Amino acid sequence: MADKIFMKEGLLQVPNHPIISYIEGDGVGQDIWKNVQKIVDRAVAKAYADERSIAWQEVLAGEKAVALTGQSLPAKTLETIKEDLVAIKGPLGTPVGQGMRSLNVALRQELDLFACVRPIRYFDGVPSPLKEPEKTSVTIFRENTEDIYAGIEWEKGTAEVAKVIDFLQNEMSVSKIRFPESSAIGIKPISQEGSERLIRSAIQYALENKLTTVTLVHKGNIQKFTEGGFRKWGYELAEREFATELADGRLVINDIIADNFLQQILLNPDKFQVVALTNLNGDYASDAVAAQVGGIGISPGANINYTTGHAIFEATHGTAPDIAGQNKANPCSLLLSAVMMLDYLGWKEAGALIIRAVEETLKAGQVTADFAQLTGQEGLSTSAFSEKIIDKF
Ligand code: NAD
Repeated sequence: MADKIFMKEGLLQVPNHPIISYIEGDGVGQDIWKNVQKIVDRAVAKAYADERSIAWQEVLAGEKAVALTGQSLPAKTLETIKEDLVAIKGPLGTPVGQGMRSLNVALRQELDLFACVRPIRYFDGVPSPLKEPEKTSVTIFRENTEDIYAGIEWEKGTAEVAKVIDFLQNEMSVSKIRFPESSAIGIKPISQEGSERLIRSAIQYALENKLTTVTLVHKGNIQKFTEGGFRKWGYELAEREFATELADGRLVINDIIADNFLQQILLNPDKFQVVALTNLNGDYASDAVAAQVGGIGISPGANINYTTGHAIFEATHGTAPDIAGQNKANPCSLLLSAVMMLDYLGWKEAGALIIRAVEETLKAGQVTADFAQLTGQEGLSTSAFSEKIIDKF
């Protein structure tokens, strides 16, 4: 009965019983995943009776994969997600200094998941440093494959860096390297193609969700060809591909310098609906904006390639080793990522059911320990909190 999700003419085709891969995750992943899975199954059952259900399929990564296969990211995991398109994952640890590349980064690169999408909104009942946190409701589209994350750099004092500096000074007439003898050098590639696919996805997301404004956030005043290119290509793309929507007022494109964005999103958050950023700016902005609505621990995320359909929905926090195995972690980040997944599948009714239940639960002060301790209370366990959500369906 279970079927594969597939792409047809650029659109995701979702059967009534789609196969979806899950990676439980390390640390608190094990406390959180089973509860999230139960909530999602109950929401889908409630929204569509027996018409629809998810055929969950476990794929291995992280500590569990090492224990069972000796590898942290078995080839089979990648092959399965490549084939079945959609996956959801708990947090995976990155051992520091063991020469191991981050599993999260590996998954993003292997599947070319070019858009990191983070919808950030306020939930009543969540402690926030802002006076009016409810004014923040913005979806961040961060480019995920270019910029300094390409990892092209050379260490100070090496023969390679000397060669690059020599090339820059003698062949490119660069005279502005302040301390050439002790410089490390990094390269920032930003392409028209890479910028366009990210910005196109942000615009399509805005239109699908009846949001009018897409803001291009950049540092084009300083980096005229890379960051400035991102801005220029964004405007040109909008005029070329979305002329009708621009003309009839369904779409407005504007832009802002990255540092001013970080001011304005605090001072006038309701000016922003969907923002598109290059990779590094997006990295800073997504955590900063999530923190201003108290949502750093509960904000959801997804890494998506809208062209191939590949998408991995994930908790944005780490493995929280200090509370792992104690049934006290907050499941909201992974749960709200699951809501993004349901929306991506077009199963919006089930997602809306969960959102409403999360809103009511948090508003009633029914929260896990991380939020409760801020007001000196006990807090609910992960499983008790999850039951409170299911009770509201
Ligand atoms: P962390 O997010 O795991 O923990 C930071 C703090 O937040 C801790 O005090 C932790 O208890 C708390 N916290 C995190 N998630 C929570 C939750 N759901 N409920 C309640 N409290 C929560 O960050 P870290 O300690 O810097 O990283 C630990 C490991 O996780 C590292 O190996 C890191 O590489 C990895 N990591 C993975 C991801 C990911 O998979 N997306 C993201 C960040 C970090």
